[in-house]
Amino acid sequence: TIGKIFDLTVKKFPNKPAIYDVRKNVRYTYQEWSEQVNRLANALLKEGVKKGDRVSTFMFNTEELGTALFACSKIGAVFNPINFRLTQEEVAYILSDATPKVVIFERALEPVIEAIAGRFDKTAFWFIDENKPDYAASYQEKLTEASTEDKKIEVKESDIYAFIYTSGTTGRPKGVMHTHRNMVDQSVLCIAAEKLEVNDIGLVTAPMFHCAELHCAFIPRVHVGASNVILHQFNPKAILQLFEQEKITKLFAAPTMWNMLLQEDLTQYNLFSLKLGLYGAAPMAPSLVNKLHDRLGISLIQAYGMTEMGPAITFLSENDQLRKAGSAGQAALSHDIRIVRTREDGPSDPDDRVQVGETGEIIVQGPCMMLGYFNPDDATEKAMYKGWYHSGDIGYMDEEGYLYVNDRVDDMIISGGENIYPREVEDLLHAHPSVLDVAVVGQPDDRWGETVTAFIVKKNPVITEQELDEYCKNSDQLANYKRPRKYVFCESLPRNASGKIQKFVLRKQLEELLSPDSS
Ligand code: AMP
Ligand code: MG
Repeated sequence: TIGKIFDLTVKKFPNKPAIYDVRKNVRYTYQEWSEQVNRLANALLKEGVKKGDRVSTFMFNTEELGTALFACSKIGAVFNPINFRLTQEEVAYILSDATPKVVIFERALEPVIEAIAGRFDKTAFWFIDENKPDYAASYQEKLTEASTEDKKIEVKESDIYAFIYTSGTTGRPKGVMHTHRNMVDQSVLCIAAEKLEVNDIGLVTAPMFHCAELHCAFIPRVHVGASNVILHQFNPKAILQLFEQEKITKLFAAPTMWNMLLQEDLTQYNLFSLKLGLYGAAPMAPSLVNKLHDRLGISLIQAYGMTEMGPAITFLSENDQLRKAGSAGQAALSHDIRIVRTREDGPSDPDDRVQVGETGEIIVQGPCMMLGYFNPDDATEKAMYKGWYHSGDIGYMDEEGYLYVNDRVDDMIISGGENIYPREVEDLLHAHPSVLDVAVVGQPDDRWGETVTAFIVKKNPVITEQELDEYCKNSDQLANYKRPRKYVFCESLPRNASGKIQKFVLRKQLEELLSPDSS
């Protein structure tokens, strides 16, 4: 189990630095951290938390989030990290769905909790900062009163370790249930892919509530006895300073974060210790991979996956970055991936496979597949139809078994009966030197069904629609029907906390722009 492996790490490396929380300027060795974990475990037990009960966290990146994860896993409680970007009603929905016994939260997010705490009289709210609000208890006091004794509660590998609610770009968020076994398998394959070892120092800056950071970076590092430096929120300058100050060796960041790091003057910083950059959670344009490669001079690895699968299901190794640019890599250890024909009337059939090079839905089997969604309607059955997880992503596989992820089924544009994957157009525009960021969506069109619209964040303010159109026309990479017929220039693109562009927001903006009564 996750808790058992934590204890083994503590036993092996008691005096190694485990955690540095930048916000509070707190450093723990594994022995010290283990005492905190046991204190919290005992405090939760005293509160009446039993095996299978949920404990939620609602915070940015903090040591306390990590401590809660391991405390829960040691007593068999279910850890539920909530997305800090969610609105009050979204958080209320998750609390009513997961019904946690305790919610641990921080000052920066207090207004959200304050507005809804009154609706949950069976839930205790614990506040990790000074000057707690009236309705909450002090986390610090709870820990001070609790003992550091290890209660040695029996937890099985088949027990549920966490509920992680999916970003839910459509519909209600769903609680993805993962067992300890799922998470241990995920950890092992990430350790292997990222060549994690005891001397690594990882920087945690992507959201810890999201499984990309939590499962592919934070937990695997703990399992090998490496160190985690925790940055409260993403901040390019702080990251670049920490590289030097803490001798960071490994970093996971979403593509948009890497892009922002590249906008800084890198010559000002010493990046010598950084060995490996992991990217994923959203598509990254090959032109950006190339820039990272050239300007940072570090090894890069891509992970592709989804919360329901643990998340990583493929890796693109460092040697394949340039040779297989645009690919998400090969199936991860013990994973089987298929491309199958999509169907209008239900989940695609796992046996209806397409040819090599042909696009279809990406489906997958592997040891980290979720147990199911919590409180599902028929969502679990549809998602795991015939034992394969149906990703809702469209892609293809080449002759060497490398996967290419085109887009979400729902984001595909159909123009004049032809499928257009926004990503193709986005990757091309990304490579234009005056484009900082880009997203492509379909615009309803009487004649063609849909046409392509590109939302552009400019890097160079003088770039015009005509120039971008010429660029696309002159490129030999884009068929005419895929060429954007409209450009919308904007300040930034709407993204969720894990870095994914919220295309539904853009489609709505476009609709408003085009509506006859908009001025
Ligand atoms: P989530 O539900 O937050 O776990 O997000 C899963 C989705 O993120 C996948 O179904 C993909 O659409 C997208 N995604 C994750 N990693 C990648 C990647 N490396 N390349 C392209 N898309 C990705
Ligand atoms: Mg998803």
